[in-house]
Amino acid sequence: MDDGSIKVFQGYRVQHNNARGPFKGGIRYHPNVTIDEVRALAMWMSWKTAVVDLPYGGAKGGIAVNPKELSEGEIERLTRRYTVAIAPIIGPYIDIPAPDVYTGPQHMAWILDTYSQLVGRFEPAIVTGKPVELGGSLGRKQATGRGTAIAAVEAAKALNIPIKNATVAVQGYGNVGFYAAAVINELYGAKVVAVSDSKGGIYNSDGLNPQKVLEHKKKTGSVVGFPGAREITNEELLTLNVDILIPAALEGVITEKNANEVKAKVVAEGANGPTTPEADKILFEKGILVVPDILANAGGVTVSYFEWVQNLMRVQWTEEEVNMKLHDKIVKAFNEVYKIHKEKNVDMRTAAMMLAVQRVADAVKKRGLWP
Ligand code: GLU
Repeated sequence: MDDGSIKVFQGYRVQHNNARGPFKGGIRYHPNVTIDEVRALAMWMSWKTAVVDLPYGGAKGGIAVNPKELSEGEIERLTRRYTVAIAPIIGPYIDIPAPDVYTGPQHMAWILDTYSQLVGRFEPAIVTGKPVELGGSLGRKQATGRGTAIAAVEAAKALNIPIKNATVAVQGYGNVGFYAAAVINELYGAKVVAVSDSKGGIYNSDGLNPQKVLEHKKKTGSVVGFPGAREITNEELLTLNVDILIPAALEGVITEKNANEVKAKVVAEGANGPTTPEADKILFEKGILVVPDILANAGGVTVSYFEWVQNLMRVQWTEEEVNMKLHDKIVKAFNEVYKIHKEKNVDMRTAAMMLAVQRVADAVKKRGLWP
């Protein structure tokens, strides 16, 4: 630590499946990180990479830490020490980490540097979500939120809801929530009427300007207090009378307690696991179209894949190229899942799982059990 003392943090890397390609998944810094959470998230990554058909398996990492209590130097040393610990089990063709909750491009730069120094050569493909200066992909930072917006737009299309001026509420205003709000508003003309962060939410029926809200959050530390908006709670945001609800914060926010009150016609899960299984059933019975996390937030890992491909080929694609490829991947996956949802009369999550598990199972079977 900065004061010279030594503190021990518990970190994990869980590799769930690599039948379809190298393990892939982010690293989360959060006080609530446990081995079981990381295990669940690692499995989620296997299904996520399979549902959008990336040549990857699934993994996840995490450190039980509140990064807000650490200095930049302490976070850097923690990140480098964690990298040294997992170095024997990661690699550009083995397991490729990436950002997740409370980690970003700077952390990836430290991982890249630590790993490259360990192996004695520049190895950009060891990690994705890097700064563009170090081989990061253009469009990666925006990719998760962008993919969520694209998935929500496809869902609205499927329900014949005109996207122009459709009303949207976004829970969470981090990397996923902000870009989802910005893209669905600026690119598709939807009206973002409510957003929130851990401190609370804001509502304006005339629509909020996502960029201006971000500026306010950067200045004050929260979206709360944004001029001209009414304050609401995170709980209220989930049950607003809107067309599209985007939960983009943490897991377990739509539960059996509030699912009956959800009025949105589309729920696009920017976060991992925002809807509990009990709530899922209620939303399905209410006819709400839920685009599940493994599809709605797969934009991040999709552009991670593009980044990795660019690194291995030593090329850089334009942002337009990246965005176009991302769009095609998400739309294709959405249509495949939607088709199963219709044909088998199952909810979208079940449909996505059917597609993903089948792909992993096919790979496992074709490879065979050996030794
Ligand atoms: N952490 C992100 C996710 O949960 C991105 C993972 C990646 O890019 O590998 O999908």
